[in-house]
Amino acid sequence: MPTYARHDVTLVSGRGAWVTDVDGKRYLDFLAGIAVVGLGHLHPAPLAAAHSQLEELWHVSNLFWTEPMAQLAERLSERFGGAQAFFCNSGAEAIEAALKHARKATGKHGVVALEGSFHGRTAGALSVTGQPAKRAAFEPLLPDVTFAKPNDIASLEAAVSDATGCILLEPVLGEGGVVPLEPAFAEAARELAEVLVFDEVQTGVGRTGTFFAFEQLGVRPDAVTLAKGLANGLPIGCFLAAESTFEAGDHASTFGGNPVVCAAAVAVCDEIDDAVLAAVRDKSAQISARLPGVRGRGLLLAVEAADAGEVVDECRERGLLVGTAGLDAIRLTPPLTITDDELDHGLSILEEVLT
Ligand code: PLP
Repeated sequence: MPTYARHDVTLVSGRGAWVTDVDGKRYLDFLAGIAVVGLGHLHPAPLAAAHSQLEELWHVSNLFWTEPMAQLAERLSERFGGAQAFFCNSGAEAIEAALKHARKATGKHGVVALEGSFHGRTAGALSVTGQPAKRAAFEPLLPDVTFAKPNDIASLEAAVSDATGCILLEPVLGEGGVVPLEPAFAEAARELAEVLVFDEVQTGVGRTGTFFAFEQLGVRPDAVTLAKGLANGLPIGCFLAAESTFEAGDHASTFGGNPVVCAAAVAVCDEIDDAVLAAVRDKSAQISARLPGVRGRGLLLAVEAADAGEVVDECRERGLLVGTAGLDAIRLTPPLTITDDELDHGLSILEEVLT
């Protein structure tokens, strides 16, 4: 179905920060699947882990344990500082789990989210997405969702009511134009929220230079959602909560916790070490020093550009894949592992197109 405004390009292979189309043309990938392929295409660690799991066991129902699922839960719990994981297959599903968890934990169904936020396309996730154009054709959605302005504490206070069980925030609004939250705003949310959930579907797994973006906000949420970068491109979602309210029968997913995908995700978590995170922060600083009008955190960045759509097309013609962040900015989400030379090459193309 024509649900995507696709480029007229068919990609057939990828290695590291490069992808190749069906005609053999190579592109430097500064999008990485929109912040998904964090370690670069076909990274050997998740590739080997997924391969060896493919040779052992593809699927069992969630009526049984598998080792990769348990290992991944342990890795994520360690990073969070103690948590339980529910595994699913996408970001939107992770949000659905978060919404159900918050209702059960608080007995309240009200949610406060942000104007311009994006949490996914399923009915629940769309209900908490603060973008009227994406919602209009599908209303009525879930009731008692209110939207506050990002980084406006008075607006957040006004949006919270006695019905509010959950405050749901992206640490950096991604689809909403790459808008980082300020620590004071996150602190205010922490004080106001019964259940504070950070949607780290886009910001998580090292993308902003720390494993979780919330580490830079000085605020610990009750729960986070993860997806995109977690298995380097294999489909996965995770709802991670300090304390589960779910009991047997409350929630489920047939494919959630798939052993092949979880094996890849364990390898990803093991690769995202302090050196990779420091390199993300360093490359982010390099980009900000080189281009004017850069905003964001780590390698989740936007660069101001009039007529962003045209810039994207021109970059693609010259062999560089970038995205848009609204109408007037280019989104840069290259692999976290991109080399200095590759970064230099891509930024040179972008500079040429922007001037
Ligand atoms: N939450 C955030 C912050 C996202 O950026 C996205 C996707 O872009 C989602 C949720 C939805 O994830 P998915 O497309 O995997 O359902």
